[in-house]
Amino acid sequence: MRAYGDSLRGYGHETHVKCNFTCQYCGYDGRAFPNWFQLTVDHIVPQSQGGTDDGENLVTACHACNSITSRMKFPQGAPKETIVTEKKQRVQARQAEYFEFWRTNVAPRYLEKWEGKEVASHND
Ligand SMILES: [Zn+2]
Repeated sequence: MRAYGDSLRGYGHETHVKCNFTCQYCGYDGRAFPNWFQLTVDHIVPQSQGGTDDGENLVTACHACNSITSRMKFPQGAPKETIVTEKKQRVQARQAEYFEFWRTNVAPRYLEKWEGKEVASHND
């Protein structure tokens, strides 16, 4: 494969293959082109806290999850599994916060037109 300087086509590709093109924090499916285009490589142990570029420290993350978890701090030597769990929890909490806004301010703008129904019927 030709060498690419960017993460997506270059060094990140191997990580995305390993992770099946799926965000390891929220499950975002990055296989289709527009979604693949949003994939990033996340350092489980942040580089600012001694994390390396070794493959075992790299996972696929969508842009949102990479952003949400980017400033988290972890105890020195914390196991990767613990860090991944904490990042997933942060992402879930942030999604829950944002879901309410989406449900009341975004979904009604297209769900009503789509199905001619009140959005309240989509709350299940
Ligand atoms: Zn994600």
